[in-house]
Amino acid sequence: MKLTPEPNGIAPCGQPSKLRQMSERTLRLYDTMTRQVKPLELIEPGCLRFYSCGPTVYSYAHIGNFRTFLTADLVIRTAEAIGWTVKYVSNITDVGHLTQDDVADAGGEDKMASALKSKEGEQFNNVWELAEYYEDAFREDWARLNLREPFVRPRATQHMREQIVAAEQLIEQGYAYETPTGVYFSVDSFKGYGKLSGNTQENLRKAVREVVLDDNKKEQADFALWKKDDKHLMQWYSPFGWGFPGWHLECSVMARMYLGDTLDLHAGGEDLVFPHHECEIAQSEALTGKPFSNHWIHTRFLQVNGEKMSKRTGNFYTVRSLLEKGADPLAIRYALISGIYTKPLNFTDQGLSDAMGNIERFKRSDAAVAAALENGGDGPDTIGVALDELYEQALDAMTNDLNTSVALAKALEGTRVIQREAESLSKASGESGKRYLDRINALLGIVRPEREVAGPAVVTPASKVDEARIQALIDERAAAKKAKNFARADEIRKELDAEGIELRDSPEGTNWVVKTAL
Ligand code: AMP
Ligand code: ZN
Repeated sequence: MKLTPEPNGIAPCGQPSKLRQMSERTLRLYDTMTRQVKPLELIEPGCLRFYSCGPTVYSYAHIGNFRTFLTADLVIRTAEAIGWTVKYVSNITDVGHLTQDDVADAGGEDKMASALKSKEGEQFNNVWELAEYYEDAFREDWARLNLREPFVRPRATQHMREQIVAAEQLIEQGYAYETPTGVYFSVDSFKGYGKLSGNTQENLRKAVREVVLDDNKKEQADFALWKKDDKHLMQWYSPFGWGFPGWHLECSVMARMYLGDTLDLHAGGEDLVFPHHECEIAQSEALTGKPFSNHWIHTRFLQVNGEKMSKRTGNFYTVRSLLEKGADPLAIRYALISGIYTKPLNFTDQGLSDAMGNIERFKRSDAAVAAALENGGDGPDTIGVALDELYEQALDAMTNDLNTSVALAKALEGTRVIQREAESLSKASGESGKRYLDRINALLGIVRPEREVAGPAVVTPASKVDEARIQALIDERAAAKKAKNFARADEIRKELDAEGIELRDSPEGTNWVVKTAL
């Protein structure tokens, strides 16, 4: 079987949307390879072929993982907003990702196998069940945080044949060799090894440490395409005997299979620059003789309360652990995208609370606009021009290396424009308001949930609060303040505070948020 996509190694993009018009805009992103912000240059105008490394499904994905996936999501939304069609592939790693993965040729145990042996792993009959469970949980979290679905989400275990064929081809072409422990890619055989990370041949000895003790390896940095292991929990028969593929191989093979020989853009978290992406480049370019990806982006790590997230210290949050504490999924999303992806982001209690407050503003604007559409008068549209301008500014910020801080600030300014006239919006203003919120939601995904999520509902305290009562108390407090009865106003604030409702005063009135504690 010939695996090279024909005739030109490019997978078809699919039908561009008839409704969308390509704008003059382009999308500029920081490229890790050339170390500069530059416009994405598409192989085929209007079609972005995009691969982003997905999760290893050995436990619940944490919010750091989601920060990285959200960067990819924002690329897709921005690309669509300027009229491009996006062909997006993001994989599921369910075999071969070893615990010591910071070196070229990883060592240690398969993360899937070690998870099965852990306390949480006891509930599963086997590693396949464990993988399925965490993949399902991951997909739910993904949907809750409003991430766009990829066109395909291929699993490593479903592409075994293609990985074995790729390893065979690399041996045939002189890039790989077999030893008693596996099949290794010879980094010396590929001239460009190190071009993404700077871990070049000269620097390699500093950048790697020996993990796999195999005297037959030609170089320490040579990395496994196939591990021979007839004791491994997940194993397949290959021309090299029983075993499993090296982690890096799946992405090379699946990216090529679904998107073609050359991608427009490849993404991941900062830890993937080396070794994962460096090794993907070596394998792919050795196989095809063509550039693997024309652009590379990497998201800097998320920290929690100023520290590295770590299961050991308990400084570790998953989407569901935050939902259980009462956070709105859209607020989690908001907090995770509030900082620019090229800078590290610190996730804090305060950041999440602020995000909750901001999400409330969008919800209230949405409700005001819906009310205007239903009951608004025949007056003129008084907000459309200002809102269109703010949307354009938010989009400009996003096309300029995904500047989410500016884009979110512009988006929020729009809610102020709507709220200022909330009580008196005409139908025409309601239409402009709706158009604005629809477009902001398409661009940033923070106004409303985009789809229903199957699976166990998370009961949040937010869903238990009595909104009408809170509003009545806020109105009573405003009246008390007006009558200079500050004691009563204070009492109301304290009463709500004790129930976990925080009041926030602003020139447009008083908002409330459900308080969260990390
Ligand atoms: P994994 O499930 O370990 O394969 O990781 C999935 C993705 O999450 C990869 O792109 C990682 O680079 C990324 N990632 C892991 N930890 C963090 C973090 N703390 N902040 C941002 N991204 C992360
Ligand atoms: Zn990958």
